[in-house]
Amino acid sequence: MVRKALITGVTGQDGSYLAEFLLAQGYEVYGLVRRSSSSSLSRINHCAEKLHIVSGDLLDQFSLMDAISETQPDEIYNLASQSYVPTSWTQPALTAEYTAIGVSRLLEAIRRCKPDARFYQASSSEVFGQPDESPQTELTAFRPRNPYGVAKAYAHWMTVNYRNQYDLYAGCGITYTHESPRRGKEFVFRKITRGAVLIKLGMLSELKLGNLDARRDWCHAQDAVKAMWLMMQQDQPDDFIIASGETHSVRELVQCAFEHVGLNWQDYVSIDPAFYRPNEPVELVGAMDKIKTKIGWQPEYSFEQLVQSMVDHDLKELSQSQ
Ligand code: GDP
Repeated sequence: MVRKALITGVTGQDGSYLAEFLLAQGYEVYGLVRRSSSSSLSRINHCAEKLHIVSGDLLDQFSLMDAISETQPDEIYNLASQSYVPTSWTQPALTAEYTAIGVSRLLEAIRRCKPDARFYQASSSEVFGQPDESPQTELTAFRPRNPYGVAKAYAHWMTVNYRNQYDLYAGCGITYTHESPRRGKEFVFRKITRGAVLIKLGMLSELKLGNLDARRDWCHAQDAVKAMWLMMQQDQPDDFIIASGETHSVRELVQCAFEHVGLNWQDYVSIDPAFYRPNEPVELVGAMDKIKTKIGWQPEYSFEQLVQSMVDHDLKELSQSQ
């Protein structure tokens, strides 16, 4: 029997990698896509022929029930959300609608239409906000510090509660920042790798950044989606931290990216307070012991390999566009 998977957020970075990964595993893959007057399918164009697009929206309960009834998926991955932290401050209610209540709607749809489906909920390290321990584990208290983190915390606990209350196979993967050439250009990793390349090619003279001391636990999105899938293959549903287990500062990232194109970052980077965050989480780093021991997952890309592969990608893409 061919296994079927439904992915929300299939047009995003993680959704597109997961779709590719599942197609390669022989799954029939359905991607839930919001209706929009302009196409947003650029990340999945290359596999569009094999992918089944289903229309639906996390804001619309009936559309989720229809999508699940019609496709009867064995696995459902919820990767859709309003995921940009600064936007969660300017549109907090909409962020909550998609990122929090959207998950309630999805869980209700699963419970009513396909209760034996396995459900992956994309939790985020932003639920920890200002954590009182480092590294964070699956048991660390949630102290979110922005509307996105608050919405993700709600979604996390709803998933756990539906698992307990209705015996659903549902688990949350608490991912830390994960990057790839498909990452939005507003996120700092991509902004820096692209910025270094633009400067190298003479297309930009200065890169403006915020807090260089902010530290993050970064891994490759391809590594992260493999962890999501592995989580759904276990006998029992459970929640796991998906992280590299090490942190690097934005400063180290800048240095590594500029070095890779043969430039001294200090000559080109300036600080712009506009990119500073209110209530910045200090240091987010995930303990990966549980996922490593129970599932046998660990990232394949090192930090340096991740930076260099993204710089190489941006160099190729931007050189062609010149
Ligand atoms: P996320 O906050 O982990 O989802 O990802 P971002 O890539 O948006 O931000 C990562 C970190 O980089 C945050 O701690 C920011 O404060 C820091 N940062 C420093 N300069 C910048 C910048 O110019 N843009 C962004 N987006 N973040 C920056």
